[in-house]
Amino acid sequence: MASARRGISGTGGGTGAVARAVWCEYAWLEAEGVCDAVRVEIDADGTVVGVLPGVPAQDGDVVLRGVAFPAAANAHSHAFHRALRGRTHDRGGTFWTWRDTMYRAAGALTPELYEELATAVYAEMVTVGWTSVAEFHYVHHQPDGTPYGMGDGAGAGEPHAMELALARAAVRAGIRLTLLDTCYLAGGFGTPLQDGQRRFSDGTAAAWLERLASLRSTISSLYPDHQVSLGAAIHSVRAVPEEDLAVIGEHLPTELPLHVHLSEQPAENEDCLRSTGRTPAGLLDHHGLVSERLSAVHATHVSERDVALLADARSVVVLCPTTEADLADGIGPAGEFHRAGARLALGTDQHAVVDPWLEMRALEHGERLRTGRRGHFDPEGLHGIAALGGAAAQGRRGAGFSPGCPADFMAVDPHSARTAGSSWEQLAYTATGQDVTGVVVGGILVAHDGVHVTLGDPARLLVAAIDRLDTATNAMNGPRASENYTQPWERH
Ligand SMILES: [Zn+2]
Repeated sequence: MASARRGISGTGGGTGAVARAVWCEYAWLEAEGVCDAVRVEIDADGTVVGVLPGVPAQDGDVVLRGVAFPAAANAHSHAFHRALRGRTHDRGGTFWTWRDTMYRAAGALTPELYEELATAVYAEMVTVGWTSVAEFHYVHHQPDGTPYGMGDGAGAGEPHAMELALARAAVRAGIRLTLLDTCYLAGGFGTPLQDGQRRFSDGTAAAWLERLASLRSTISSLYPDHQVSLGAAIHSVRAVPEEDLAVIGEHLPTELPLHVHLSEQPAENEDCLRSTGRTPAGLLDHHGLVSERLSAVHATHVSERDVALLADARSVVVLCPTTEADLADGIGPAGEFHRAGARLALGTDQHAVVDPWLEMRALEHGERLRTGRRGHFDPEGLHGIAALGGAAAQGRRGAGFSPGCPADFMAVDPHSARTAGSSWEQLAYTATGQDVTGVVVGGILVAHDGVHVTLGDPARLLVAAIDRLDTATNAMNGPRASENYTQPWERH
């Protein structure tokens, strides 16, 4: 542990003037390991302008106890899936219950219910150390498929009602949101949408692009980019017909981040090859969609050629290790992607687990299980993936203790039952979200010791939100349970 080093200052991307400061009992400075008494100076935009180790706290400083690290950036979330946690993990190999439960919940969501649920989910997320989230959002129409703000039904609401509900939820929770509005047009290759999927669809890629442009101007008129920004998603190559992929490749603004579920299951590859003669990655590339702005989510079952394609393009590969384990997806070739030059990021996806610490080590553990060897990603690498990779997936600057970085930090207790005795450089292998003592976003304390500063205990919020959604789900005649077996990759 180093106790003192020269301070670092600079204007980076911020305004330069010190507006506030965070004092860390200890902080993990990338180049030098854990240093003590680190005062981080921050400008009015929430950007780091100076890092001063070995100095005392000053009045008014936010104080972080324990060891502070760059905060994590969640690169893949479906907020409403949180309502399914603990309800879908049994029944062995039959997955239809998951899908039915998910569609029933999706069918019952209203903007009001979704705002309440997402506020609770994002509060849980930020309290354990995620300070930004890429929300892969496809419940964007009314249940019958009519856009919000249109039609004369009681629930017509305002245009973009669901997206604005998510934005308000993120702002309330103090988490940065990258809203990935998702194109979702088909139930599979050559398969129309089913009833439960109707509210996910714009009908055509052209109509989706039109709504996306309108949403983009609405969001940018209401929120600064660092708080809520817009990105795009293609649900998957099976949910967007090839002719629509071509339209997206031609017309999607190039500056928007683009995410896609990719090769989560072998069956998707087989169907894609059969229908198009290409792998999912190859198909996207054929339409000009593989580039640096692309994030491929899962990428579990990919060929060597797919790995090279994504890596050469400097795409981001978003791994969701706890979800992939829960859904028996398999273990993707994270090491191969990393060595080939792809950037990696982590996401919590279905939210059966919402904990950056568990995702970080599940990534390393997956590699160990897959290869029979230890030591693929060291702690520095894991923190880099969690912080910088996730930010890159969102088109954001990464967090860190350097001028120009957003002042987003998470601190953990190195003396908990889980972490006691750990080398402080190795806390990535032992800490959990329960050990997080404080989370700072833009230099402002958002949560400490499991409690959200303005919203209180996330558990209380989750209980209330899930209860209200359950009541609404049970009250409506939603999609009926399918008796058919459904492939895992058809479930989200
Ligand atoms: Zn997903």
